[in-house]
Amino acid sequence: MTLPTTVAALSAGLAQGDFSSVEITTAFLDRIAAGDGRLNSFITVLPEAALQAAHAADERRHAGMAGPLTGVPYANKDIFCTQGAKTTCGSRMLDTFIAPYDATVVTRLNDAGMVMVGKTNMDEFAMGSSNESSFYGPCLNPWKTSCVPGGSSGGSASAVAARFIPFATGTDTGGSIRLPAAYCGISGLKPTYGRISRFGMIAFASSLDQGGPMATTAEDLALTLGIMAGFDSRDPTSADVPAEDFMAGLSQPLAGLRVGLPREFFDANLDARISTTLEAAVRILESLGATCREVSLSSTAYAVPAYYIISSAECSSNLSRYDGVRYGHRCKAPKDLADLYQRSRAEGFGAEVKRRILVGTYALSTGYYDAYYAKAQKLRRLIKEDFTRVFAEVDVIAGPTSPTVAFGLGQKTADPVAMYLSDIYTTAVNLAGLPALSIPAGMVDGLPVGLQLIGNYFGESRLLNVAHQYQSVTDWHARAPALES
Ligand code: GLN
Repeated sequence: MTLPTTVAALSAGLAQGDFSSVEITTAFLDRIAAGDGRLNSFITVLPEAALQAAHAADERRHAGMAGPLTGVPYANKDIFCTQGAKTTCGSRMLDTFIAPYDATVVTRLNDAGMVMVGKTNMDEFAMGSSNESSFYGPCLNPWKTSCVPGGSSGGSASAVAARFIPFATGTDTGGSIRLPAAYCGISGLKPTYGRISRFGMIAFASSLDQGGPMATTAEDLALTLGIMAGFDSRDPTSADVPAEDFMAGLSQPLAGLRVGLPREFFDANLDARISTTLEAAVRILESLGATCREVSLSSTAYAVPAYYIISSAECSSNLSRYDGVRYGHRCKAPKDLADLYQRSRAEGFGAEVKRRILVGTYALSTGYYDAYYAKAQKLRRLIKEDFTRVFAEVDVIAGPTSPTVAFGLGQKTADPVAMYLSDIYTTAVNLAGLPALSIPAGMVDGLPVGLQLIGNYFGESRLLNVAHQYQSVTDWHARAPALES
């Protein structure tokens, strides 16, 4: 059996009876068993549960009750709660945590008959750009194992790129779907804030966090987004916007599409070779009928500072729930209540998470609130207004996902600001709440380059359409790494 690696091809093969879900699930589990010792893209693999779900999917198909994704294997970032299987969020704090319920995203994918094979590696509490802050050790980039896969959804990106799995979930607070998608050469979509339920998705910064799909093609993103998206009464920030048929508009021609290229995204921070690669990608969009012009997002320089104040402030509040009392790590033999809190948190959290809690608590404290937090909120408004102005003139914005390709392991761990600057082209999107995706658009030094496309609110269909059209005339998305031995 030749094993297809896209969700669309697996779905078609299952429908035609070319193979069963048990057969393909076994084949993907074998790949994980053979290759993940090198990459560390999974925190937990669940072979028995997966085969049981695959069996149930096959029975559902025999009974004539299968949907398009029934029987297709996938993985969840370990930030999504899964009933009966460990959910660690990459942290010692939750090393033994088993959630009593499934996240809405997980419920929807499983109800569609998809087969969860495991939980993927990630930066601790999704804080990071390289997957190096995971309590379970770094995950590696399958294109070059001396390099990071990007973060925080590094495990999902690495597993999809290595073809261990056709699709995985991710979350994006400041770039964590798009950056690892770019560094690993896959496609990843961060939807409009509110498009996908956050219920059961462990909170980092609630006003920015958004789940989304990661796969090899834009078509697969469209297929899976249709299941993940939609209103959820259990998430108070869920948007009451029905999930569309995201497949419907994929083949629409790009004639008349107006693309904006922000001058501030093609600046001195951007590796010149990436700039050249993206110019070629822009020419392809033009050959498909788009008209491209320069635009200005003058608030771009404020995005990283505003993001790190706001996200750290929200994280300091969200993470106060890990107190050693209700759930999570508890220190041994506490002397008193203060000792219980202090040691449980000191032992349970890693260095980067502690840094964010300290920064966030400081920014929210009396005397500093106005100087930092309130100012960051004003910048957030300016950033949002900048996008609104540009979207009056263009349909999508195109630019780099990251200023560099994947960097070396350990290269930025001693310098948090250098690490944070990997996010200069992604964080503004979260501050504004807009949808954006990253697709592979070339290679530099044997490593993939990501093209970022940003859309207007609830403009996912248009973004997926542009990405799909680009992928119908290029083959970057179809290239897979030959895992070095
Ligand atoms: N790299 C960013 C951070 O460390 C974004 C993380 C994310 O999107 N979860 O905060």
